[in-house]
Amino acid sequence: MNNVLLSILLIISSTLLGNLVLYGIRKKEIPGVFFFSLLMMAMIIHSVGYAFELLSVTVGSMYFWIRIEYLGAAFYPFLIMLFAREYADEKRFANKYLLTLMFTVSIITLILVNTNSYHWLYYSSIGVDSFPYFNVLALEKGMWYYVQVFCLCFSIIYSIIIFSIKIKRTRGDYRKKVVFMLIGVSIPMVTLIVYMLGLGPVYIDLSPFSYFFMSAFIIIGLLRYDILFLAPVTHEMVFNSIEEAVLVVDKDELLINFNYASKRFFPSLAKVKIGDSIHLVQELKDYNFSAKQSINEIHGKILRFKVINIKNDKVRIYVVDDITESERAKKQLEILATEDALTGLYNRRYFMEKVEASTEEGIIVIIDLDHFKSINDTFGHIEGDRVLRNFGGELMRFFDHQTVCRYGGEEFAIFMKGVAMEEGFKQIETMREKTSGMDFSRKVTFSAGMAECKDCNISEALINADRKLYEAKENGRNQTRY
Ligand code: GH3
Ligand code: MG
Ligand code: MG
Repeated sequence: MNNVLLSILLIISSTLLGNLVLYGIRKKEIPGVFFFSLLMMAMIIHSVGYAFELLSVTVGSMYFWIRIEYLGAAFYPFLIMLFAREYADEKRFANKYLLTLMFTVSIITLILVNTNSYHWLYYSSIGVDSFPYFNVLALEKGMWYYVQVFCLCFSIIYSIIIFSIKIKRTRGDYRKKVVFMLIGVSIPMVTLIVYMLGLGPVYIDLSPFSYFFMSAFIIIGLLRYDILFLAPVTHEMVFNSIEEAVLVVDKDELLINFNYASKRFFPSLAKVKIGDSIHLVQELKDYNFSAKQSINEIHGKILRFKVINIKNDKVRIYVVDDITESERAKKQLEILATEDALTGLYNRRYFMEKVEASTEEGIIVIIDLDHFKSINDTFGHIEGDRVLRNFGGELMRFFDHQTVCRYGGEEFAIFMKGVAMEEGFKQIETMREKTSGMDFSRKVTFSAGMAECKDCNISEALINADRKLYEAKENGRNQTRY
């Protein structure tokens, strides 16, 4: 193969990489993609420089292009680590100190390559070897060359490990994407090893060619699995897509982090920064921060706070959800289960439950409006309802210490707890006399039957009271019987 062909291959590879850079820039909001684009730009500089190095004839011009190549190649260890760390969302090992170290090595490499003739630390000798078709530089590796190669291997191995862990932890399509990433970054590594072991062509640097395969591989991966488009779901993304407000606070009650939803719950967070005291959040000024779990009403919303302690209680996570709607529905259900919709008195089911639960003895009274059907027939059902509502209200006021219910249609029941029959009878009669012929929108009277509720056998007491009620009706209505 001659040098012109090799150079053409390198330029084609650079064009492919250029497309990836443009794609990456459009998707730069996806974690890691921005650094991937920078890495590819470095590869383009390296490849294009090498293409021209291969076309050069003199040592001077060849070395000039090497200097250009290193404007990109010097930064590989740094950029590979940066990309893998962002893409896989692993920041514990590849922390800012390690990254600073990698960056420093890259800068030193760049300086040493450009000043090599003064110290020979990067290349210990520079010469030219003649090939059958073209000349290449014969470079002896200097001390710093090995430092640079070590750092490069280190960051590639780091990425391979990180991606392998990610593959183990993931499933489905995302796993396939990471597999493509892993193979992609492994290609230059394999090439480098081949080069270093002296298995390939001696004086030709294979790594720029490996970028051709790597970029082709990643482009296929991109089209098939959309590696960068459906990028990894990071903790940050999950954190911010949760509908509950999540506030993370340290032991001094300073805000470590909060998600987007928090601002909807607590609008004053818009003015609060990470690192500020949580007490600056206006809406939380009455909140008891030491409670493990609590329900608070804030600005007309019912909020449930759950507190999670982590890192030996050094960090607290407050998870807040809005339960206004469900609480309202719960209250509504409670009302439906216990109240009669027309009169607001207890309903029959709840009345029975309450009396059965009562340990005290008492009196059961059943009240039935007299000739109620004629009110309906004469004035209509709506008017009938109004009378029932008004009468029910009066009953509730009169027996406000007792359990009163709407027993059915125009019938009501009362449980007079701890009251003897004579006393109970007196009370019912007082009520009856007071309301007899009273205007509840229409004039109405009632008949009542009473029975003792001993040992609280409610069914028996109700049968007895009903029997007495029947007697009262038979006897001419508007009276009480026991
Ligand atoms: P009595 O003196 O014998 O008790 O005569 P009454 O007409 O009151 O008794 P009856 O059992 O014949 O009729 C009860 C009526 O109550 C029949 C029904 O139309 C009416 N009623 C039952 N529930 C309601 C209601 O929710 N609203 C209205 N407006 N009427 C009701
Ligand atoms: Mg009736
Ligand atoms: Mg009646």
